Amino acid sequence: MDFSKLTVIEIRDGIKNGKFSSEEVVKFFIDKCEEKKDLNAVIEVFGDALDRAKKIDKKIASGQKVGVLAGVPIAIKDNIMFEGKKMGCASKFLQNFVSPYTSTVVKKLLAEDAVILGRTNMDEFAMGSSCENTCYGVCHNAIDSEFVAGGSSGGSAAAVAGGLVPCALGTDTGGSIRQPASLNGVVGVKPTYGTVSRFGIVAFASSLDQCSPIAKTVEDCELVLKVIAGKDEHDLTTISNDLSCVQKSKYRLGVCRQVMELLGRSASKDKFYALLERLSETFDIVQVDVPHIKNSLACYYIIAPAEATSNLARFDGVKYTVRSQDAKDLESVYVQSRSEGFGREVKRRIMLGNYVLSSGYFDAYYNKAKRVQRLIKKEFKSAFEHCDCIITPTTAGTAFKIGEKLSDPVGMYLEDVFTVPANIAGVPAISVPYDEMNGLPLGVQFIADEKNDALMFEVAKLFEKVGGAK
Ligand code: GLN
Repeated sequence: MDFSKLTVIEIRDGIKNGKFSSEEVVKFFIDKCEEKKDLNAVIEVFGDALDRAKKIDKKIASGQKVGVLAGVPIAIKDNIMFEGKKMGCASKFLQNFVSPYTSTVVKKLLAEDAVILGRTNMDEFAMGSSCENTCYGVCHNAIDSEFVAGGSSGGSAAAVAGGLVPCALGTDTGGSIRQPASLNGVVGVKPTYGTVSRFGIVAFASSLDQCSPIAKTVEDCELVLKVIAGKDEHDLTTISNDLSCVQKSKYRLGVCRQVMELLGRSASKDKFYALLERLSETFDIVQVDVPHIKNSLACYYIIAPAEATSNLARFDGVKYTVRSQDAKDLESVYVQSRSEGFGREVKRRIMLGNYVLSSGYFDAYYNKAKRVQRLIKKEFKSAFEHCDCIITPTTAGTAFKIGEKLSDPVGMYLEDVFTVPANIAGVPAISVPYDEMNGLPLGVQFIADEKNDALMFEVAKLFEKVGGAK
């Protein structure tokens, strides 16, 4: 049986009802990972996945109560810890690092009887939009291998789109789940900040990061998000966020004037307008304003590198990391190890972060960015007085060719122009496939108000029915 087309829910139900076993399912996906190795999406299949599947099958056979993800294989991004398994953040710096404990998200998946299949490729320390900044070699787009998978959770998105696994976790600081999901034609969500515990996940920019699923359908993403969400005593930024569904007879979608200006003459503009036209039968469509939305990206590239600089300070060649062989004294242990261990993009962020935090510039850059962030948050709040969700394209175009943007960091940063605002405002957003252009997928994004994740899921599910890609 070909399980690659089935959703998480279909697989779960099939296993529960005895149509097939978790062992069969997991075996199938392990073979798929081998068969599609060239995608470079799944970098390691965990050796104990099959045993775990057999255990779940036994549990079901003996009539014991099982969890809502019983027997379903799920992959995790390479920055999420699972005790005893390697985790490398796609960095030379963490080669051979073995997780000393298990992240809260993995614990929660295991508690619902999921099978953790393996780990997925990513941009080093989650910095990038193409999954090219990785020590494992570039990850390819699942639809056309000459194109990038997007990033930083490119491996998770390509793995789902390529049928290597029905669901994979990613992390999203500025679009790292939604952008690759969009470029590979699958669904990716970023919840309200604080919904999911970051305990045991290597932080890039702690005040913006959220871990969340990528899957084939909105319903699958919703189910898995519900499993991993919740307050956690190990992460004091977690909040209680009620994810139970709230239905309305009609939903109001806001089209943000400033986003349409940003969309300018981009290639996908006509497709997006055509989509809005189609949706006007099902949704009320209104215009809204988030005047400073276009400053989100500038804000992001001050706040995120500032936090990255501080989060990455621990990689000093002394603790848990590779140490330079040429180091002769303490100072050179730091300098040489960091010079050898980090890739170009990570170094660029560290330099940027140190610059904006340095005493003479702190107020001019960091504090100013935080002030603009507050303004953007306020503007989003006002916009949501007029609509349930704001609808935007996830990205301005489709996937680009591998190598095309490597020497153009600003062009690469612009990939996230529509996804970053939700992280800056801390609000939930989801990307759903809606069309294609030259054979490559296009995604649309729904952004909701803080803690309105449940409403966002309802809108996205309805959208899937009436306007989603077939
Ligand atoms: N592409 C963005 C960056 O490079 C977002 C990364 C992310 O969300 N982790 O910062």
